[in-house]
Amino acid sequence: MNTVGHVSLVGAGPGDPGLLTRKAVATLRRADLVLYDALVDERVVAIARRAQRFFVGKRAGRHALSQHEIQQLLVSQASRGRRVVRLKGGDPFVFGRGGEEAQALERAGIPYDVIPGVTSAIAAPASAGIPVTHRDHAAAFVVVSGHDVAAFQSTVHALKPGGITLVILMGLGRRAELASTLLAAGWSAETSAAIVADGTLPTQQVWRGSLHALGTQQVAVDTDGPAVIVIGAVAALNLSGGAATSGVVDAAPETIDEAVAPRATGRRVRQGTRIG
Ligand code: SAH
Repeated sequence: MNTVGHVSLVGAGPGDPGLLTRKAVATLRRADLVLYDALVDERVVAIARRAQRFFVGKRAGRHALSQHEIQQLLVSQASRGRRVVRLKGGDPFVFGRGGEEAQALERAGIPYDVIPGVTSAIAAPASAGIPVTHRDHAAAFVVVSGHDVAAFQSTVHALKPGGITLVILMGLGRRAELASTLLAAGWSAETSAAIVADGTLPTQQVWRGSLHALGTQQVAVDTDGPAVIVIGAVAALNLSGGAATSGVVDAAPETIDEAVAPRATGRRVRQGTRIG
């Protein structure tokens, strides 16, 4: 009997489970197997109640599984007829290697779909009150990885300094090198800069300063969590509607159930039902 399963590459959003899409929730609920990464909130993983759930990300600098092994697992499990969810932080196609996984599924002839997520590249700045393209300050924003300094340099050298917003992912540990690359490329030392760590989560921390300070000072974020660096005039803005930069309201458990369960199951949802 030929019962080929299916893989969904699902974006888990930036952290706050309330930012998960309805489609992601519905797909998680149907899943037989979930392979998830380090940045995915455990409350999101728990939505996949009936699934086997495996952590396949990086913890303490070590990969639980190699990228190749993850791709093999997606193919072999779907080939057994299972509904597999590959759950990734943010959007699966933004620095998440989701593209490679989709290619592996194409090669193996496995049916799959892609469920976009809210990327931290936009949501973490927004949660700190930074609009990445405020009309008065930035005509564009560029999302770049700070992990590979050589690749960062070539991106920066292709850009005219100022007038755009740079959003750097995976760059916190190398911020001094990144700042000096920008200064060498002609960016003003006074350019505004911000760091948003644990964006959208109750533990969110925000630091604001200049490009100069980013490279030289001990910045006031104390985190092992993920962080986005924003560089450009918009980084000085704080349009958070008076909300504190931490203490994000977690409206997720009820809203997810109310939004998805009534249609999916046809029955009323108990008030206060929790995810998982
Ligand atoms: N696909 C993800 C990005 C994966 S790369 C997305 O679209 O968001 C991982 C990097 O994303 C982290 O090193 C960090 O730079 C950023 N990141 C992810 N979640 C974040 C969060 N809640 N706050 C700040 N940065 C975050």
